[in-house]
Amino acid sequence: MPPRRSLSLTVLASGSKGNCIHIDDGETAILIDAGFSCKEITRRMELYNISPKKLSAIILSHEHGDHVTAAGVLSRKFNIPVYGTTGTLNAAGNKTGTLFQRKDITSGVPFAVDRFLIHPFSISHDAADPTGFTISSACAKIGIATDLGIATTLVKAHLMGCHALVLEANHCPDMLDRGPYPWALKQRVKSRAGHLSNTAARDLLGELANPSLSHVILAHLSEKNNLPEKANRIVGEALDQTTTKLFTACQPAPLAPIRLTMPAARPLCA
Ligand SMILES: [Zn+2]
Ligand SMILES: [Zn+2]
Repeated sequence: MPPRRSLSLTVLASGSKGNCIHIDDGETAILIDAGFSCKEITRRMELYNISPKKLSAIILSHEHGDHVTAAGVLSRKFNIPVYGTTGTLNAAGNKTGTLFQRKDITSGVPFAVDRFLIHPFSISHDAADPTGFTISSACAKIGIATDLGIATTLVKAHLMGCHALVLEANHCPDMLDRGPYPWALKQRVKSRAGHLSNTAARDLLGELANPSLSHVILAHLSEKNNLPEKANRIVGEALDQTTTKLFTACQPAPLAPIRLTMPAARPLCA
C-alpha cells in the first residue's frame, strides 16, 4: 500500500470544558482525548463528515474530566480501543467505566496504531501520569502538548521537527492575577503542574519554530483568563520571521480541519 501523502488535523474542541482532537490520514483515524459529551463530539464530527465508526483508537493524555468524559461511551458504542498510561487509565476508570478494549502505554515508549507511530512523553501537570504526544505518519509529524505547567527539556526534545503543533496557551498572567479565580486555583494554574501561559507558550514556540513547521494551533485557552486575540498576538511573536500559519482553537466550536500535505517529505514511518 503506498504511503499516504496527506493528513487532516481537526481540533473539535479545546478548553477547560472539553478537549478532543481528530487526526486522519484517510486510512487511519484517531482521537486524542474525548473530554465532552459523546453526543456533542459526534455532532461536531458530522460537521466535517467524520465517522466515529472509522476510529482506530482514542488516546488519552490524562484523566481530568475535560479530556476523558466521553471516552468510555464512545469506546463501548463504536468498539474503539482506549490507550493511556496505566496511571491515566486507572485514574480515569470511575469516569469512563468499562472500556471496549484497554491499551496500557508507557511514557517514552512509542507505539503504533495502524499507520501512525505515536510517541507519548511525560508532561508536568497535576494528574497521575500525564503525557503529550507526537503522531507521525508517512507525510507529517504532529506534536500535541496541552495541560503542562512548564515546558521541560524533554517536552522540547519531543516537539522538535514537527510539521504541525497543538500547543497550550492557557492564560495571560495579568488576567489570571486580576481575574475571578480563588487564590488557591490561581496558584495551581501558575504552578509547575498547572497550565502554560501565553508568554511561556511563546518562548517554547520560539525554540520549536523550523522551516517545516507549517501550522500551529493554540489550544486550551482559559475562557476567563485569556483572550484569543491576546494569545494570538503574544505567541505569534515567536513566528514573526516565519511563514507558519497560526490558529486559535476555542471551546464553543470546532476549528475547521487543517490538511497537511508533504508531497516531497521523506516518509517518517512505513
Ligand atoms: Zn485540560
Ligand atoms: Zn488537566
